[in-house]
Amino acid sequence: MTLDPKQSPPLIFEHDPQTNSTCIGVDLPALDVPTADLPAALMNEQPLNLPQVGQMNVVRHYTALAGRNFSVDANFYPLGSCTMKFNPPINEAAAAMSGLNDVHPLQDDVDAQGTLKMLYEVRTWLAEIAGLDEVCLQPAAGAHGEFAAIKVIRAYFNDPQGGNAPQRRTVLAPDTAHGTNPASCAMCGAGVVSVPSRDGHVDLKALQSMVNDETAAMMITNPNTSGLFDGQIGEIADILHEAGALLYLDGANMNAITGVARPSDFGVDVMHYNTHKTFSTPHGCGGPGSGPIAVRDFLAPYLPVPQVIQKDDGSYALDSESYPKSIGKVRSFFGQTGILLRCWAYIAAAGPQGIRNIGQTAVLNANYLAACLEKRFAMPYFSTANKQYCAHEFITVPKDLLAQGITLIDIAKRMIDFGIHPPTMHWPVHDCLMIEPTETESKETLDRFVHVMHLIADEIEQDAQIANQAPHHASINRLDEVAAARTPTLTHLA
Ligand SMILES: *Cc1c(COP(=O)(O)O)cnc(C)c1O
Repeated sequence: MTLDPKQSPPLIFEHDPQTNSTCIGVDLPALDVPTADLPAALMNEQPLNLPQVGQMNVVRHYTALAGRNFSVDANFYPLGSCTMKFNPPINEAAAAMSGLNDVHPLQDDVDAQGTLKMLYEVRTWLAEIAGLDEVCLQPAAGAHGEFAAIKVIRAYFNDPQGGNAPQRRTVLAPDTAHGTNPASCAMCGAGVVSVPSRDGHVDLKALQSMVNDETAAMMITNPNTSGLFDGQIGEIADILHEAGALLYLDGANMNAITGVARPSDFGVDVMHYNTHKTFSTPHGCGGPGSGPIAVRDFLAPYLPVPQVIQKDDGSYALDSESYPKSIGKVRSFFGQTGILLRCWAYIAAAGPQGIRNIGQTAVLNANYLAACLEKRFAMPYFSTANKQYCAHEFITVPKDLLAQGITLIDIAKRMIDFGIHPPTMHWPVHDCLMIEPTETESKETLDRFVHVMHLIADEIEQDAQIANQAPHHASINRLDEVAAARTPTLTHLA
């Protein structure tokens, strides 16, 4: 079904372009430079091509567009492997405070004590949650954290006073690894070797046969992308450490274990956090992210600089001098301060007990959903009968429903009709939905989701056509996605 142009709202420039009025929804400030001094060639002789739209029409235009957006404030969003569905307004209030918002990154340390204290506390708290020794806040995303950490590992092995094993240039990653893992390794010039898994867990025998004196590290996500905590993690760490290699934790799924298990206790030497997945900072749309890395003490000398430190007199400062072996900067200044501030606000509001609650509730919510859905939506790694449980997310491969002549996309599109954002699809295995409710959703929302999923299953069994042609109630119907991407219609007037 194609998009009906009558259905979609006009562009801002298409609001009554004929009247020739000078109705402009903005009051421009008076010119504050003397025009006489400006070179004539730089002067604009034509009036600016601003849309001729009154102020209220501008407000209504953008409010109407915003209403067509999907948002976590309005709808349930069970996207797997992405976590955080919560951006508390108090975070925004904290981030808008002028003392924090207006500070310039080149301000002297003495003038920015509040900001530095906040950054120092985030650093200390993230180190404590990981059980590791030092944290660097600079990387601007999880993938960027992976990149920075691989650089740190490389610098350690290249250092004759450090790891002193420059031949260690290979990184192992399970076959369930997120695409960013091999990509970051490749960007750092490290070779990646894929380790097979069995029943969703790392194949230990295979791993044992793959480590050697060229292995720098293994990158592992635990709980992994199938929503399973790999209980062999202690043995995995031993295999690597005995071979002289390091264990890297991709911390994307940290919300499943925060306050319950510390990565250092199960053998992790270095890890990244995704604050947008674990600590309530905004997620998605290419916005600013933050991917702090945490390391054991022997890797700390190589971390990016400057580090925020607390001096003996209790004041805070930026320090580069104590890190002569640093890999250098991976981002301007000292990281995404506005994002780290939101992370600070979330951890401060939760407190130690709340941090533990995050892990416990994330796991409880996912198991509750899986248990309610398992009879209709087949699950490869979950079974209440066999006491086989999941961590913070689970995957379903709904074979019985797919046998009714529908595809996974039909189920996903039908969910949109009920105001639910479709879960992650076809990853980590084909034909799966990866569902993650997170710790912040109420039982009421989870029960509604279960109800909707059963309704969709019933419907598919009775009449597959309904799902085949969904969505029926969204602002646009089923798109020809290839045509939409290749030949987009960007204006009505075209
Ligand atoms: C999201 C994710 C990443 C990448 O993190 P970004 O912050 O999006 O760069 C890496 N690994 C896993 C398992 C993820 O889910």
